Amino acid sequence: MLAVVKRTLLAVFLICAAGPVYAQAPVTYRLSIPEPQHHWMQVEALFPGLPAGPAHVLMSRSSPGRYSLHEFAKNVYELQIDDGAGRVLAAEQPETSQWDVPGHSGVVRVRYKVFGDTTDGTYLGIDTSHAHINIPAALMWVRGLEERPVRVTFEPPAGTSWKVATQLHSTDDPLTFSAANLSYLIDSPSELSNFVLRTFNVGQPFRIALHHDGSARDADRFAADVERIVKEELAVFGELPPYENANGFTFIVDLLPYASWDGMEHRNSTVVTSPGPLRVADQRISALGTVAHEFFHSWNAERVRPKSLEPYDLDRENMTSDLWLAEGFTNYYESLTMLRSGLVTTADFAATLGVVLDTVINSPARRYRSVQDMSRLAPLVDGAVWTDRTNWDNSFISYYTWGSAIGLALDLSLRSRSDDKVTLDDFMRALWRRHGRQSPSAAEGSVAHPYTLQDLKDCLAEVSADRAFADQFFARYIEGRDVADYQPLLARAGFVLRKRNEGRGWIGPVPLHVARGQTIVAESTFEGTPAYVAGIDRDDEILSFDGESIGSAERLDEIVRRHKVGDKVRAVVRRRGFSEPLTITIEEDPGLELVPADNGGRVLSPSERAARDAWLSTKVAP
Ligand SMILES: [Zn+2]
Repeated sequence: MLAVVKRTLLAVFLICAAGPVYAQAPVTYRLSIPEPQHHWMQVEALFPGLPAGPAHVLMSRSSPGRYSLHEFAKNVYELQIDDGAGRVLAAEQPETSQWDVPGHSGVVRVRYKVFGDTTDGTYLGIDTSHAHINIPAALMWVRGLEERPVRVTFEPPAGTSWKVATQLHSTDDPLTFSAANLSYLIDSPSELSNFVLRTFNVGQPFRIALHHDGSARDADRFAADVERIVKEELAVFGELPPYENANGFTFIVDLLPYASWDGMEHRNSTVVTSPGPLRVADQRISALGTVAHEFFHSWNAERVRPKSLEPYDLDRENMTSDLWLAEGFTNYYESLTMLRSGLVTTADFAATLGVVLDTVINSPARRYRSVQDMSRLAPLVDGAVWTDRTNWDNSFISYYTWGSAIGLALDLSLRSRSDDKVTLDDFMRALWRRHGRQSPSAAEGSVAHPYTLQDLKDCLAEVSADRAFADQFFARYIEGRDVADYQPLLARAGFVLRKRNEGRGWIGPVPLHVARGQTIVAESTFEGTPAYVAGIDRDDEILSFDGESIGSAERLDEIVRRHKVGDKVRAVVRRRGFSEPLTITIEEDPGLELVPADNGGRVLSPSERAARDAWLSTKVAP
């Protein structure tokens, strides 16, 4: 556990001490990469000044910003434990990620290889182009030494001139860095490569370490766009967080064919990875969307933080009811920021939110769970790997998606009740003042005033100046399972939420897998849809539909569409060796889309125009 009490003591010490601030010998790490082509890193960690009794050495099981278990110990091998001078110390392994060392005399050294060939925000990626290090995936730590200062020295492969990008603090040695404690260390992803560096200053310095195979012009344009995003999000909160690094905030961006699509937030940095190159417009916009999302987290989630995630536990799942705000509202602001800063069009913005609303309004999963319940499923859905089949299609809606829809509802409700004088930006700013801002003397890597659900309700009551509105909003949409009445809220700003295929026949999504002349339902069908109600589900072979055999998804679509709403269609399916006749009643496609009302040439009314501009125009002062 990371003890909050000890952190406070350290903070007091840091304020009072005029001389050397470190009371105890630091934990030191040496990371070397002698054979990058084989994707392993050699780690040597020295834990001095241990109290009497067994030392508990741990590999993390989870990583900040993730909620499920990743079991990083699976990639550790050739573990050697000694006293730092070569005397081997016997160790027991009571858990998969823990080694207990009883016979030490105050110093334990561990050395091991750790394998990693995944370039993303969670794991470890070692290859001949870089070492892309998420610290919990790489470094062991000792329970009880969480508040010790840390020094990390990187040794790039021989013959390379790799530089280091990290939010760890620089020292006199360009390859050695420091952190005040374990929680700051594990929050500090580090990229060693021949990245290109771009910098800009918006009150505080910003660095972009871009590892890609594009041109200098691609990099310049990307940096200019990142700066627009930073300014646009700064305008929401009114001030930047006081970054705890002399270099300010660092974007570690890896756009490489072998990178996975990912983004991971940290306090003074973020990791953005994607296989797509910047020269492809869609890929550039998608990487910038991730930048907008992750940078927003430097306020929302990293500092305006749920109490249930503070402090973060490295050795278990981290569960919270609040991801609708931490991730969902961040998703909503990603969309807003991309539009406000001119990186996407109003039609793109509407299309994105249209998919969000269609998903949330039409999903059967709202019958079973609130958005808080969905948030508590994160340890089971966020990167967790299962080999059995699950029924998430019918029982889960992503808290990113649902939370984004709630952000939209709250923003538009506040605007509509106040004639655009009070907005979601005001709510976010109020949360920042109450929970995010903290004294600069607080220990780095910690959050002094994390929020509870009641704090959020109180904050909304104050911002809206209406306690009943705040209580009702939470009761219906966050603790309850209702969805807001979006149509009038959106119409006010000149957007139309409408059926995508008005009057068209539909039986629900029935993804098909066609092979060797068989037409098989490939995924679960959705509860309440005509196909589901008729009894069709995954693995069913459709022998005939309306008297015809089906050879493709398109053919099934054609047959459904030639029927009117209310028609009954006969089908025969075969499952588990038996054939069964079914009757399916065609319904109208309930799918929704969101479009700007002026798309078809209609001119917005002055009030629609005013509401839209107040909402979606740039907030950056010229
Ligand atoms: Zn996020």
